[in-house]
Amino acid sequence: MFEEIQVSEPIGLEAYESEVHLYADVAALRAEATRLVPKLRGRTVWMVNSTSQGGGVAEMMPKLVSLLVEVGVRCRWGVIRSDRAAFFPLTKRIHNMLHGQDGGTLDAHDRALFECVNHRNASDLGSMIAPGDILVVHDPQPLALGALLKKNHDITTIFRTHIGLEHETPITQQAWAFLKPYAETYDATVFTAEAYVPPFLAARATTIRPSIDPWSHKNRDLTPHKLMGVLCNAGLQRVTQPVLTPAFEHQAVRLGEGGDPLEDIGLFFRPIVTQVSRWDRLKGYHPLLLAFVELKRRLARGAIRLGDRHARRIELARLVLAGPDPSSIQDDPEAHDVLRSLTTSYAELSPELRNDIAIVTLPMQSRKENALIVNAVQRCSTVIVQNSLEEGFGLTATEAMWKRAAVLGTHAYGLRCQIRDGIDGLLTKNPEDPNEIADHLDALLADGHLRELMGNAAQRRVHAESLVFSQVAAWLRLFDAL
Ligand code: UDP
Repeated sequence: MFEEIQVSEPIGLEAYESEVHLYADVAALRAEATRLVPKLRGRTVWMVNSTSQGGGVAEMMPKLVSLLVEVGVRCRWGVIRSDRAAFFPLTKRIHNMLHGQDGGTLDAHDRALFECVNHRNASDLGSMIAPGDILVVHDPQPLALGALLKKNHDITTIFRTHIGLEHETPITQQAWAFLKPYAETYDATVFTAEAYVPPFLAARATTIRPSIDPWSHKNRDLTPHKLMGVLCNAGLQRVTQPVLTPAFEHQAVRLGEGGDPLEDIGLFFRPIVTQVSRWDRLKGYHPLLLAFVELKRRLARGAIRLGDRHARRIELARLVLAGPDPSSIQDDPEAHDVLRSLTTSYAELSPELRNDIAIVTLPMQSRKENALIVNAVQRCSTVIVQNSLEEGFGLTATEAMWKRAAVLGTHAYGLRCQIRDGIDGLLTKNPEDPNEIADHLDALLADGHLRELMGNAAQRRVHAESLVFSQVAAWLRLFDAL
């Protein structure tokens, strides 16, 4: 049932240390490790979640585990398995309810199923853990496992949840009531933001921000040659010269019949406004599309003075709305509907507007290629938008900020936590108001100096608060505190 996952991450601290901007971060982590790791006295830290692939937790785990191991912690990672078909639909329901979405009622039958699957996994893991070990359970799926093991083993347990809503609702209360008997047995809980902590856990909750790996394929620096190569390999740039690397087996696809087939998007030449996200209504793609149309119409109406550089910039600007190929994500039926309604709105636009807007699906078969495409598209962008109506954190914003992009976020809680309005980027108050979004796009496109200042501030902020090194150090401090 329970399965241990082996981690092999090729890049270690010595490599990160060689980069001038990261040297101090690695040094700070090493110093914390020298101080704190001996105090663990050989205890094993177990990280447990529900999947080794897909989703932010699985994405973060290999680097987190490998860095903990590298600084001397005996850290192992495992995932729970289920042979009951109804288990993951149940935990998905709980997940949605913690985000405030309706998930029906949770009854005694659900509880029995939840405990049964957790119980089997707990028996497997129970034979591997030793007294004194530290068990970190990520998200609600394996939550009962920690509570069960705690009963019969002398271990320290930590519940780390990556989800939450900034205010309580009857729905979130119901989900927390279901989880409470397990959650309250834990020695500590870790949330992404203070606002997500339910009152009954307040006394033993801390916060650790999600973080990014600056050298992952999604975030690492790309030389112009590499960047152009990725765009060509992915089918996002017409190939006019021999390219070192072969075309990706699965290509990015521009949807709709609007784009002139002879013309590529011009990612390398034009001012580009981008949003890369999942096709989810809450990501606010549709109002963003309308805002971009409004911007172009302002130009056509003469509301933006023709002849100057800014008018020319808006004339040339293109909008790229990108997200994963929905056929590759079975558990997200909503993605098809969101994408369909977006392409329907797009099809109703004039040919000129359609030419200036690209709705692109990105292949998901290779995580590396997908990450490189996201990286390349973000690096070609003059403005990166994350127009979320709600956002738990918004790693897309972190990734954009790290690349020193001018970022346009919203007042959604997760984005507000990251982007200081007017300093690291701009925030739209009402992400459903195309006029307000258009005003912000206009302001950012008009002022290159402002974009540069905000991009620099944004990168500094991610550097200070959201890199994986400080996350590892935060874990070490928490282990020590316990
Ligand atoms: N992402 C990706 N490929 C895509 C679209 C999104 O890799 O085609 C990534 C994106 O770069 C980010 C993550 O998916 O790392 C989304 O995380 P975020 O916190 O922004 O939102 P969530 O999807 O968790 O709501």
